[in-house]
Amino acid sequence: MNPQALLTDLTARLREASDLARASAVLQWDQSTGMPPGGAAARARQLALLGRMAHERAADAAIGRLLDRLQPYADALPLGHDHAALVRTARRDFERERRVPPDYSARLAEHASATYAAWMEARPRNDFGSLRPRLETTLDLSREYAGFFPGHAHLADPLIDAADEGMSAARLQPVFASLRQGLAPLLARIAGAPQVDDAPLRRHFPAAQQSRFSRAVIESIGYDFQRGRLDPTAHPFMTRFAHGDVRITTRTNEHFLGEQLFSTLHEAGHALYEQGTRAEDDGTPLGGGASAGVHESQSRLWENIVGRSAEFWRHWYPALQAEFPAQLGGVELPAFYAAVNRVHPSLIRTDADEVTYNLHVMIRFDLEMDLLDGRLAVADLPAAWHDRYQADLGVSAPDDRDGVLQDVHWFAGLIGGAFQDYTLGNIMGAQFYAAALRADPEIPAQVSRGNCAPLRAWLTANVYQHGRRLPPDDLLESVTGGPLDARPLLERLTAKSSEIYDL
Ligand code: ZN
Repeated sequence: MNPQALLTDLTARLREASDLARASAVLQWDQSTGMPPGGAAARARQLALLGRMAHERAADAAIGRLLDRLQPYADALPLGHDHAALVRTARRDFERERRVPPDYSARLAEHASATYAAWMEARPRNDFGSLRPRLETTLDLSREYAGFFPGHAHLADPLIDAADEGMSAARLQPVFASLRQGLAPLLARIAGAPQVDDAPLRRHFPAAQQSRFSRAVIESIGYDFQRGRLDPTAHPFMTRFAHGDVRITTRTNEHFLGEQLFSTLHEAGHALYEQGTRAEDDGTPLGGGASAGVHESQSRLWENIVGRSAEFWRHWYPALQAEFPAQLGGVELPAFYAAVNRVHPSLIRTDADEVTYNLHVMIRFDLEMDLLDGRLAVADLPAAWHDRYQADLGVSAPDDRDGVLQDVHWFAGLIGGAFQDYTLGNIMGAQFYAAALRADPEIPAQVSRGNCAPLRAWLTANVYQHGRRLPPDDLLESVTGGPLDARPLLERLTAKSSEIYDL
């Protein structure tokens, strides 16, 4: 056996499957940024065809035979070795493609796209009732999915593992519980302190000026416009067509300054990760993020840990004031810094501050568990949602539109594994950042001079360039020296809130 010849054959086959998936991504990007409404029907047909072709390539038995022949060679190599990592990740992707029958995928795709269309209409009408039967089917499909992966401890585990390799309900529950235990008293102390006013962010900020500032910021943190571009969309996302083409999108609210800037920083954080992978990994399973949670750790690191830090604004606030002299000329830096870090329990997850955000995620995670376990019926979901918001955040939505209908996830995919990656990202982002500071204590001082290069260099060396070489747990352990741990996040949020709210 010649491993090199087998690897060359394997890589060529994986690249073809990847190229078909990337072609779909181009069509999806176009659909979200520029396609006229009249293109919808043809686009759906084209995406369905490309999706089938990509699946056929990715599930080709020839890939399985190559992996079988390469396995003994890979087993003799250390875990992070390029060839071992290629075989490991290709095997994981291949098994997933093979285990889920094409007939099920077709049923799910059809159900999900019909449910999404129904949700688009039902949400403005506050009409959960019409979606209930569809959501019951979604729950059945979610349970059916788990059946393709025998040996799981919980029905949610295959769905959780699909997004966050190695994670399970049993592993997440204690980590989330410890985070909740720390967040609840912090939130109570903040509620008892004088409140922060975010009125400085709620003036009129013309879109063109916001865009000019956001572009300057992401260029400065290292987003490479020679290998990317930024376009407006309704629901911002990052997409990778190739190592040399990693695009981001954003949206603008002219009456709330935070929206465009922080969502652009968030997507740029995802993009820095992809742009920081190795060019030679492009089109192979190694050329991408380690998991959904690790990806989210990078977007949140740049959005929150850097983008909402005092150091960052020490450098950037004068430029922002110069862009908006009438709106911000009379607002001092401490007041602006407090405004972008205002903690305030609210109804909508995507608008939530750093302290309450994870409580929104945990509500959804727990409700997913209850639905899958049969402890909660779909018909009772809206009421359970309202009860949890009252109990955990002390707020109550007047309707389902801003209650159970607010997030698209359950109405465009499966129930289970849909939300944990956000909180995993917040937790791991704080762990990675703490490790970066241990390695280079000068990072904050450099950020306050507008120099994010040392931080980006550390992240590139320790996280980005590895792509998917290591499973998320091994990556976290090797970079931070420990397992998943909510304490660095709690410490950071406590220290920041204590300073802003004078606790
Ligand atoms: Zn994200």
